[in-house]
Amino acid sequence: MNRATQLADIQSRIATACSKAGKPRSAVTLLAVSKTFPLSDILEFYSYGQTAFGENYLQEALDKITQLADHPNAQTIAPNLQWHFIGPIQSNKTKPIAENFSWVHSVDRLKIAQRLSEQRPTTLPPLNVLVQINTSGEESKSGVHPEQAEDLCKQIHGLKNIALRGLMTIPSNTDNSNQLKAEFLKCKSIFDSLNSKGFGLDTLSMGMSADLELAIECGSSCVRVGSALFGARDYSK
Ligand SMILES: *Cc1c(COP(=O)(O)O)cnc(C)c1O
Repeated sequence: MNRATQLADIQSRIATACSKAGKPRSAVTLLAVSKTFPLSDILEFYSYGQTAFGENYLQEALDKITQLADHPNAQTIAPNLQWHFIGPIQSNKTKPIAENFSWVHSVDRLKIAQRLSEQRPTTLPPLNVLVQINTSGEESKSGVHPEQAEDLCKQIHGLKNIALRGLMTIPSNTDNSNQLKAEFLKCKSIFDSLNSKGFGLDTLSMGMSADLELAIECGSSCVRVGSALFGARDYSK
């Protein structure tokens, strides 16, 4: 399949899932996860109308962002391209994230959020932040424990250069759909509970290539799709 067809295929999976869930197509946005793929692939998807791209590895992302800024047609080639950081964050690496991204999906500690707020250039709009929830209960996984989510969100809500927009989760690495569903629904219930307390969250980031339909059924408003768009990743390069 060529890239235009891959994108159309994912768009149609999202549209079908939205209609099954009784939601308008506009209820769900597609984040194209471009880790390990070059800027040229990103620009090709951009030319087909995809604007939001997610990256996990900071140095790799910064290389692509710099390449784009140095492109001879930098001003006109991709004026609406939006970078989302979705990977683990080390506290000594927050500055380039605050300076180069529009969204961060993987905030799970107050210290990280404070640094992002302090380091966000005031010439830019506030940094859109999602709090990552550890819904799988696995100790090794990133994300705040569900019971600490509300406290963390309260503290982040007060930070100056951050817009707290919602929650993100990466469920267990399993194809047991009952377990995945339980984890997605746990995140959705925290999201609803925060909104009932006035947080005004509008973004719930859950679902990837293999489980985007289930995630949408469970209330996702942003699916993060990598391999189903770009193809299998090769980490040996
Ligand atoms: C890699 C990655 C994805 C995309 O996964 P695919 O299964 O390739 O769609 C989504 N979210 C996060 C946080 C990732 O690291």
